[in-house]
Amino acid sequence: MSAWRPRHRLMVGIWGLVAALVAGLLLAVAALLWSQRNAELAEQAKQLSRVATGAEVGMNRTLLALDVLLATTEELLAGAEGRDAQARARAAAPLLAAIARQNLAVRSVMLLDESGAPLVTSSAAQAGQADLPPADFIAQALATAVPMLVVGNPVLNTRSAERVIHLARPLRLPGGQRLLAVAQVPVDGLVNVLLQGMPQSHLELTLERAQGALLIGLAPPQGLMERAHASGAPLQQLGAPGGAGWQGPTRLRGEPGLVAARRLMYDDLWVTASLPREAVLAGWTEQALAIGGAALLLGATMVLAGAVAAANIARMQSARAVVAQSKALLDQALGAMVSGFLLLDAHRGVVQWNPRFEEFFPWLSAVMQPGVAFRRVLQTTVHYHLPGASPEAKRDWVEQRLQAHPQGVLEQRLPSGRYVQITERPTPDGGLVIVYHDVTELRQATAAVEHLAFYDPLTGLPNRRLLLQRIDQACTQCAASASHGAVLFIDLDHFKTLNDTLGHEMGDLLLQQAGRRLQAGVRAGDVVARLGGDEFVVTLLQLAGDAAAAREQAQAVADQIVALLARPYALGAHVHHGSASVGATLFGPVQQSAVEVLKQADIAMYEAKARRGNAVCFFDPAMQVSLSERAQLVADLKQAVPGGQLRLHLQPQLDAQGAVTGAEVLLRWQHPQRGLVAPGQFIAVAEESELIVPMGRWVLQSACELLARWQGDARLRELCLSVNVSTRQFRRADFTDTVVQCLSASGARAHRLELELTETLVLEDMNDSIAKMHLLRTRGVRFAVDDFGTGYSSLAYLTRLPLHRLKIDRSFVQQLGESHSGDVVVQTILGMARNLQLDVVAEGVETREQYDFLRAHACGSYQGFLLARPMPVADFEAWLAARSRA
Ligand code: C2E
Ligand code: MG
Ligand code: MG
Repeated sequence: MSAWRPRHRLMVGIWGLVAALVAGLLLAVAALLWSQRNAELAEQAKQLSRVATGAEVGMNRTLLALDVLLATTEELLAGAEGRDAQARARAAAPLLAAIARQNLAVRSVMLLDESGAPLVTSSAAQAGQADLPPADFIAQALATAVPMLVVGNPVLNTRSAERVIHLARPLRLPGGQRLLAVAQVPVDGLVNVLLQGMPQSHLELTLERAQGALLIGLAPPQGLMERAHASGAPLQQLGAPGGAGWQGPTRLRGEPGLVAARRLMYDDLWVTASLPREAVLAGWTEQALAIGGAALLLGATMVLAGAVAAANIARMQSARAVVAQSKALLDQALGAMVSGFLLLDAHRGVVQWNPRFEEFFPWLSAVMQPGVAFRRVLQTTVHYHLPGASPEAKRDWVEQRLQAHPQGVLEQRLPSGRYVQITERPTPDGGLVIVYHDVTELRQATAAVEHLAFYDPLTGLPNRRLLLQRIDQACTQCAASASHGAVLFIDLDHFKTLNDTLGHEMGDLLLQQAGRRLQAGVRAGDVVARLGGDEFVVTLLQLAGDAAAAREQAQAVADQIVALLARPYALGAHVHHGSASVGATLFGPVQQSAVEVLKQADIAMYEAKARRGNAVCFFDPAMQVSLSERAQLVADLKQAVPGGQLRLHLQPQLDAQGAVTGAEVLLRWQHPQRGLVAPGQFIAVAEESELIVPMGRWVLQSACELLARWQGDARLRELCLSVNVSTRQFRRADFTDTVVQCLSASGARAHRLELELTETLVLEDMNDSIAKMHLLRTRGVRFAVDDFGTGYSSLAYLTRLPLHRLKIDRSFVQQLGESHSGDVVVQTILGMARNLQLDVVAEGVETREQYDFLRAHACGSYQGFLLARPMPVADFEAWLAARSRA
């Protein structure tokens, strides 16, 4: 509405101007035409007056000539001889005829006596036959008191059939006799006098009397008009002046026009010239039409120009309205944009920005105004963007920011902590559109995804991916700085068992605690990562440049880690004692890949595990070799049972009194090339490859056959055999059947057979273990827990199992006398076994001190190198025979 008003006012102005111009034009044209009309009228009046004057002069001259002619007649008669008028007339007749002939205007001249009778005539006709004037005319002429020319009305000459006018002059003869000289003048002649040889169309000429009687009315082109009276008022009444004409009805047609009249010197005769106004103004009308046409054209042009201007203005205004609307729309759109927007011109001056832009950069609200240099905007921003930077750094930042960015995209972190992605796009006119897009959520999501991709969700430690990156970086750094780094591969011992017995929640708690301990145990720059399961890796950086020194440093950290991880864990109400195996490897001046380094640490860790865990083992290239030999070993091991390469060795077990109560069956492999191979080198491989099943079966079978054979020997029949059972073997559904089958097939007595199971094995699947053990126990088979103390040593499970014996692990036995804690552990185990009424066998007894300690604490059985080494069956039997003899 408000936009409509000025527009409307402008339109009204334009059309008002056009109207004023057209009105002015019309007025000017009207004034011009009016003055031209008056001039034309004046000019025409002048001309008419000239015509009238000409006619007056001509007519006066003609009448004067006729008057003179008729007056001459008097002299003629006076000069003629005769006694009376008649005679004189006759005598003067020839002369009269001559005179009449001289005057071309006269048709005939005649003399009439006082009674009006013709005396003589100039025409060929006899006087008696002459065409006389009307009687009233004669009477009128004769009646005039003073001799003067009397002009009659036009009459038809019956002889010549032409219209004539009679002019009469009374004569007085010397004798006093009155005569009348009459000249008969054809109207045509007078017409010529009136016209003066220049007939003009529309011009009306009259010869009339003062009272209006018309003698001659000439109206070309029709010619004579027969009318008794002229139109309009009688001239006498009008008292028409002799000057210019006046306006009034034309004398013949009575049309409005100009009239000029002249009074003749005779009688009361007038000549008039009149022109109808139409004719008067014919020229003017033409001119007026032309001017009017031109004016009309001009007016039309003005209107057209006005219309064009109005249309242009309307168009301009609607264009302006469209622009305004577009601008409003743009403002609205910019206002609604979630992104910040900044438009710069070709000179990097600010053209436009939106509210969101100010939200991103609140400190700019005082700076932002159209035309302000983008440099200034950046100079203000840099104080907030790099608050602590040096002036040079700030200047560099501004200059860099002013450069065009190759991809047109860059990212900025705002002081508010949010991230904006800045996109720059050039405009066609050389300007720049800069869009600031808030990508904080995206960054956070990316960071979260990155965290997921690179960090272990449970412990928050870096995962394998990130670890490999870090190791790679560390390898490069070390190669460059000629220093060393180390990777410690850590595996929690028996973690799976804990997971299965106490549940995954407890397992997770353990892993989290282990992770925290590892982090606490290393320096800030070192990396602790979790590879998955119970495997952790610690990467140590900036170790010594000297390899031996670096190894020492790594060893120290690794030992510390082993100690840290061996501390009790509080898992809810449960206190867990764990241990870890650590494989370590160094990397340094020679560039290696992360995968390679990690693999070395892994191999070393396996070695540590193979050494019964809770230890640190450094990588040795030989380990790698053994790894590749492993495949060969598996292939060879397949031949062991069918090839009859397995041997049984027996290690005696003695009671407190020194009596041999039995032996542990220990497997040996007689390899065709390698010779006798100890179980430590092949049992683990056999377990992995499932070969342990036929091997274990062979051991069982052989042991049962041996027991059966010993039944026939009085010295041997009381001995027991302990057979080691591996997890894979025990877990098989047919395990109990196999044992039962071996016993019955061999005929061995079941109570002479003891199966050694490890804690880990038993706890792996408690229900299965209990079921199988119970079944075999009912048959007489006995069970011992091998390597007791290295696992969970949980009392709870011991009570649920049909156990017969505990075998104290040799690591404890070997610590006896060395550390107080080792002594306590052994004492505890012995006390515990006593309470549960379990037998105890101490294995790995190597020294007298160990033996004495065990004996002092009432250990039931003993096994170890101090007493006897494992030996082939024949040797055992011989050894036993020799003993009994001794
Ligand atoms: P284990 O069951 O704990 O067997 C005792 C191991 O300790 C034997 O090693 C034995 O030679 C060794 N030993 C005995 N007294 C001493 C000592 O005083 N000092 C030291 N240092 N060691 C001593 P071996 O024969 O090398 O067997 C190693 C392991 O292989 C066994 O540990 C057992 O777990 C496994 N094993 C042996 N035979 C079999 C078998 O037939 N089946 C299965 N599944 N595993 C077997
Ligand atoms: Mg054993
Ligand atoms: Mg053992």
